[in-house]
Amino acid sequence: MSAVKDPPAPAATLAPYAAHDEQSHGRRYPEPKPEFRGEFQRDRDRIIHSNAFRRLVYKTQVFVNHEGDLYRTRVTHSIEVAQIARSVALALGLNEALTEAICLAHDLGHTPFGHAGQDALNDCMREYGGFEHNLQSLRVVDELEERYAEFDGLNLTFECREGILKHCSLHNARELGELGERFIKRRQPGLEAQVANLADEIAYNNHDVDDGIRAQLLDLAALREVRTFRRQHDAVVARYPALSERRLVHETIRRMINHIVVDFIRTTAAQLAQLQPRSIEEVRAHSQTLAVLSDECREEHLELKAFLREHVYRHYKVLRMTSKARRVLQQLFEGFFKDVSLMPGEHRDQALQAESSHGSAGRARAVADYIAGMTDRYAILEHRRLFEPAERT
Ligand code: MG
Repeated sequence: MSAVKDPPAPAATLAPYAAHDEQSHGRRYPEPKPEFRGEFQRDRDRIIHSNAFRRLVYKTQVFVNHEGDLYRTRVTHSIEVAQIARSVALALGLNEALTEAICLAHDLGHTPFGHAGQDALNDCMREYGGFEHNLQSLRVVDELEERYAEFDGLNLTFECREGILKHCSLHNARELGELGERFIKRRQPGLEAQVANLADEIAYNNHDVDDGIRAQLLDLAALREVRTFRRQHDAVVARYPALSERRLVHETIRRMINHIVVDFIRTTAAQLAQLQPRSIEEVRAHSQTLAVLSDECREEHLELKAFLREHVYRHYKVLRMTSKARRVLQQLFEGFFKDVSLMPGEHRDQALQAESSHGSAGRARAVADYIAGMTDRYAILEHRRLFEPAERT
């Protein structure tokens, strides 16, 4: 007799306002139900098996991948986001698998070289509809992945796609049908998406403190200007006066994350208890997000964010890196756009095909897709192959 029993019933612990499989708006291409998994588990599993997910290993968050092995990359960032969001989701009775899927997919459309890369590509694409990394993440899961016999992309659920599309310009929202409606009507996505969004901010704020110290852009004296850091730092020093600096930093950051996550859960739980949304549709109908921090915690979170902007993202060493990255991407775009036959055959064919149906905007989009899919090191290598006479092609 087989030891395999019937699949477990849909989680009885899910809150009424969570995303439930049976209320899903479904997939673009209808598929039979998975046998031993929920719909959102299937989403998460497809994301993990995608090419774009593996490429995140070599894509930068703030520090270029070859600068050191200990810095966050997009994949470790995405896993940290998922860790925080899953803790919050479980505590609030939300759908953990959907939350995790959104977190793991949220940066799939990111260009090489972090935000510098996205800005550069957006500039290059200005005349051709622009480049938004959120929209590109959606494009990856809807169109660009080639893994399934019957459809392009990963054919994810509406709820997962809604979570991936964090922001979107009104112009683009109008082209997206049901998925774009909330931007036009100023409504919210489900709570799993809201939690993933805030977990993203919490994760990068805190890990950029860690990476910033590692890169010697930040020192403890400067960081003590920031309230949340100072409070936890004081507490750790008082309790463990002889701690080595490395442990002191990690213990401080660990407590900062714990403090904000606990506040996040408590404040959101209180908000939900007060508003009592009875379904995901009622969550969506609100004009404000229901996943929130307390006022005090939010202020501290923004203070840390502003501090990092000033001391890390605008540090001259980081700006030098971003200016190089920008140049690399601009030159790659110009080179390939001028002559698409310089791209590998498959991308050249896509560019020619897109041009025949959408003119130069189609050609530009195919070039942007090729560049956005590159890892940091692949972009550097392609740049050398294209512009340095001595480099092998
Ligand atoms: Mg992120």
